Amino acid sequence: MTMVRQTRQRQAVIEVLRASREHPDAAWIHGRVRQVLPQVSLGTVYRTLDALVRDGLVVTIERAGQATRYDYKHEGHDHHHAVCRGCGAIFDVEAADIPALPPSALPAGFQVTDVRLEFMGLCPQCGNTSAGTSQPD
Ligand SMILES: [Zn+2]
Ligand SMILES: [Zn+2]
Repeated sequence: MTMVRQTRQRQAVIEVLRASREHPDAAWIHGRVRQVLPQVSLGTVYRTLDALVRDGLVVTIERAGQATRYDYKHEGHDHHHAVCRGCGAIFDVEAADIPALPPSALPAGFQVTDVRLEFMGLCPQCGNTSAGTSQPD
C-alpha cells in the first residue's frame, strides 16, 4: 500500500515539474500536487523531490537565502541555468551551446556523469534599471 501511494506521489510531482518551465520551489509544487492528491504534505513533497534529485530525474537550482528551485531534467534536452541576481529569474541555457569542459583539473579516475553550470548576472530588465540614470544622487 505504501509503495503504491509513494509511486502516485512521485508520479504527481514528476507531472507537475514536467509541465512547468517556471523552475518552481517546493511550496509551489506542493500546491499543484494537492490538486491531484489533496492529502499530500509539504514534507512528503520535499522527500519526493530529494529522491528524484538522487535518481537524477530532477535538478536543483540553489541560491543563498532563497527557496531551492526545481527543474525536471527533460530527456535529451540537458540544459544549464542563468540566474538573475536582481529579480531571481531563471533562464534555461541549452547545453549544446556550451563547450565541454576539459577534465584535466579533475582528480585522476573521476568519472563525470553530469555537468551543471550556473551563470549568475543581471537579466536585460534588471541590467537596464540598475545602469539607468533616473535615480538622482
Ligand atoms: Zn532580473
Ligand atoms: Zn531549467
